[in-house]
Amino acid sequence: MEQTIIFATGNEGKMREVRLILADLGMEIMSMKEAGVSCDAEENGRTFRENAEIKARAVWEQTGHIVLADDSGLVVDYLGGEPGIYSARYMGEETSYEIKNQAIIDRVKDAKENERTARFVSAIAAVLPDGTILHTEGTVEGLIASEPAGTGGFGYDPIFYLPEYGMTSAEIPIEKKNEISHRGKALEAMKVKLKSLFSGEEDR
Ligand code: IMP
Repeated sequence: MEQTIIFATGNEGKMREVRLILADLGMEIMSMKEAGVSCDAEENGRTFRENAEIKARAVWEQTGHIVLADDSGLVVDYLGGEPGIYSARYMGEETSYEIKNQAIIDRVKDAKENERTARFVSAIAAVLPDGTILHTEGTVEGLIASEPAGTGGFGYDPIFYLPEYGMTSAEIPIEKKNEISHRGKALEAMKVKLKSLFSGEEDR
């Protein structure tokens, strides 16, 4: 029987990445919009992991399908870990990323090169039709750039500099970003868990 996975996000940038990463699972991947559901659960967890579970559960309660959710964000060391789990809400949900990105650049402008370290974190939660919950997590390390660059990706990508590649994650092609990104790693780990479960093996 073909399984359906609903990915609980309203963020189109995320959804684009997720579709590519999950394509080889052989399952139908639907956005919340396609599934006709929404998620107005309050993200009141203290960690990425808790918030991912809150989102996945809220959508699972409305459907009988497998639901995956990602809670992710940018952790800037010089800013004591901000914006962290508040990445989407930083300076207000409606504030443009042009403004948010410039604000972060301004706040780290006095930091030395080795103090500009940052990482993207992604926690993925899956709720299976029977209510079983699975978790995975992924990170990618980088530096806060001195100015925004690139038009790809979404959110904080233009200010997240990847020293190994000499470019920001808004300049790197989406396939490459998916290979190295926090979300790519967390989703790959989740794919391994789902594949082993749905091929009948136990690996929870
Ligand atoms: P969430 O959708 O509530 O998990 O919020 C995630 C937020 O973290 C996004 O709205 C972005 O601000 C930021 N974020 C997460 N992943 C990325 C990424 O891959 N690139 C840029 N920003 C990201």
